[in-house]
Amino acid sequence: MERKKTRVIQVGDKLIGGNNPITVQSMTNTLTKDIQSTVNQIHRLETAGCDIIRMAISDFEDAKAIKDIKKSINIPIIADIQYDYRLAMESIKYGIDGLRINPGNIGSMNKVKEITKACKEKNIPIRIGVNSGSIKKEFLDQYNGVNENSMVYSALEQIRLLEELDFNDIKISLKASNVQLTIKAYSKMSQVCDYPLHLGVTEAGPTWRGTIKSSVGIGTLLAMGIGDTIRISLTGDPVEEVKVGREILKSLGLLNEGLEIISCPTCGRTKIDLIEIVEKAEKKLENINKHITVAIMGCPVNGPGEAKEADIGIAGGNGEGLIFVKGKILKKVKEEDLLDELVNEIEKLD
Ligand code: SF4
Repeated sequence: MERKKTRVIQVGDKLIGGNNPITVQSMTNTLTKDIQSTVNQIHRLETAGCDIIRMAISDFEDAKAIKDIKKSINIPIIADIQYDYRLAMESIKYGIDGLRINPGNIGSMNKVKEITKACKEKNIPIRIGVNSGSIKKEFLDQYNGVNENSMVYSALEQIRLLEELDFNDIKISLKASNVQLTIKAYSKMSQVCDYPLHLGVTEAGPTWRGTIKSSVGIGTLLAMGIGDTIRISLTGDPVEEVKVGREILKSLGLLNEGLEIISCPTCGRTKIDLIEIVEKAEKKLENINKHITVAIMGCPVNGPGEAKEADIGIAGGNGEGLIFVKGKILKKVKEEDLLDELVNEIEKLD
């Protein structure tokens, strides 16, 4: 489906919205003021392909750390601010690239005005985020509880506060832990405004369940042409969030980078330890950034044939296997050498 046209905003060197590539975000879970740990985690996230990182700014020490963290990393940082507008001002002072703050949570319009003025001077966008768990009572009463209407109208109220100050450098998120509500809320939002949308299923859960919920929710929206940047929320290592986010984009043809592994489910014909080979291959090939498809198949009968669209692959035999390239057999290798040979051949590919 055609992508919904949205306005373009800029977070550091990344453009979000319009026809720009959909970016993958994550959030650090280190103490932001622990600069070394935060930088180390961001480096791991950068290596995994994270485009933009968000950090919790909970006090002045966190805000001050932004300056040193920025010097050591290569991706833009967004400050996540809860209520204290002074932390937003400090974050701007120390070089933040984007803010996540709700204008309705920070008190007077004068404070909002100060923030928007400082953001305008430095071209810093603001993300407005409505969470299904924190909708104001007046919206819950007016729209009969937590649903897509109370979420969207809450967001529109926050948007209006910024628009009244002639501030339009905005992106929106509408997060719920319920997948169906997430889909309905973002679908409705995309009909009533053209600000770029930051997609996420919030509190999605531990890695396995969270990956499924996020893939269904975010994947459905992206397939509908909705969404400009994504964050997968998982209870675990944030690197996993980035990996899942990138795989969702790849599966929809929205990211043409990096290696894709396809593998067969195994069956009674499998005579090698394919499951172990696939698990090891995933790790070994993790940092190879070639845009190729690697097939790891259990048998020679169906292997090269079923996977002929793959650039390179393995087809298992009895204690041995074939390495094939574009459906043509390259060589026969003993089972114990299959993985290393596959990696060698991948490294040789252009
Ligand atoms: S590729 Fe071969 S081993 Fe794998 S599932 Fe298909 S038939 Fe079975």
